[in-house]
Amino acid sequence: MMATEVAKQRMNMRGPRAVVCGAGGFIGGHLVKDLLARGVRVIRAVDVKPLEDWFQIAEGVENIVLDLKEKGNCLIAAQGAEYVYQLAADMGGMGFIENNKALCMLNVLTSTNMLVAARETEVSRFFYASSACVYNAQKQTRPDAVALRESDAYPALPEDGYGWEKLFSERMCRHFEEDFGLICRVARFHNVYGPHGTWNDGREKAPAAICQKVCAAKQSGIHEINIWGDGKQTRSFMFIDDCIRGTEMIMNSDIAEPINLGSSELVTINQLVDMAEEIAGIRLKRTYDLNAPRGVNGRNSDNTKILESLGWEPSIRLRDGLEKTYRWIESQMAKETFRQDCELQEALQG
Ligand code: NAD
Repeated sequence: MMATEVAKQRMNMRGPRAVVCGAGGFIGGHLVKDLLARGVRVIRAVDVKPLEDWFQIAEGVENIVLDLKEKGNCLIAAQGAEYVYQLAADMGGMGFIENNKALCMLNVLTSTNMLVAARETEVSRFFYASSACVYNAQKQTRPDAVALRESDAYPALPEDGYGWEKLFSERMCRHFEEDFGLICRVARFHNVYGPHGTWNDGREKAPAAICQKVCAAKQSGIHEINIWGDGKQTRSFMFIDDCIRGTEMIMNSDIAEPINLGSSELVTINQLVDMAEEIAGIRLKRTYDLNAPRGVNGRNSDNTKILESLGWEPSIRLRDGLEKTYRWIESQMAKETFRQDCELQEALQG
């Protein structure tokens, strides 16, 4: 896009000037694109990763690489913003968070310094991406999970490492609002999935991991799949479009307490595999790794509060969202195979 067109586009945009932190990541990348599509003035997208590693890059936005663990960088990020969406975090699926507890807890530097910077630069609204990992583990011991209500976060016994940091940062948001008047909105995301996210770097979550394994089995002709845990653990999965819609609604709402943002369609991991197999058109022989990281036995989102507050809840069916996710991962794997073939040919010729 030409610079003049970008300037024109910016002038036509309305609403508060927004900054998205963690914009090189899965949810942040979608959020920037959606805000822009709705005419919101996104002035800056920030992430610690080099630009070439961002999942999506939006035009007409200042895309900058900054480590938001440093307060000075947070001040640069927040400058001129009215709305800050704080999604930056070192995170991943169970395989990552169970083996990187200290790294996950260090996210507290990012959340703290962004809050401090938002206050100092007089940001008017701050969104914090919390997680269902804040919930008390004792309420998630059975696969026939009773859906988690917001009050189930206390007494506190969250996921070690990652969950403790999220719960602490939620509290910090609360006190920044009470003591300093910075309006904070906090959503507890439950398992988000969709295209343009991580699928093969060790940080992937169950839907992407299963799609990748099913697709690899189809490509190789070895019709087997290894599943973490016994496959009977239950979860709900929210498609990215619902996550983005909910995030924007919560940010603009008067919901002062942390609120669930998740699907209430509960499935076992085995059912998730069934769906991926159906999409791929194959059946696989299953083996189970009972020693792999598997998280809690059952988790679901109680959506009473979001329905009461917004008259809306995430509703995209898992089967529909998974099809889009599977097709995207399939296309990424085809690109990867093509790249490897080219490299091999070059090596043979050279
Ligand atoms: P992601 O890993 O794709 O994106 C997070 C981004 O933050 C990454 O691009 C990363 O490089 C960036 N980041 C990390 N540390 C940073 C730093 N110090 N400075 C600047 N950028 C930094 O993850 P996501 O799935 O997009 O998650 C976004 C947010 O939502 C995170 O806060 C995460 O904890 C939360 N969340 C996600 C899920 C989910 O299912 N994806 C569930 C619950 C909560």
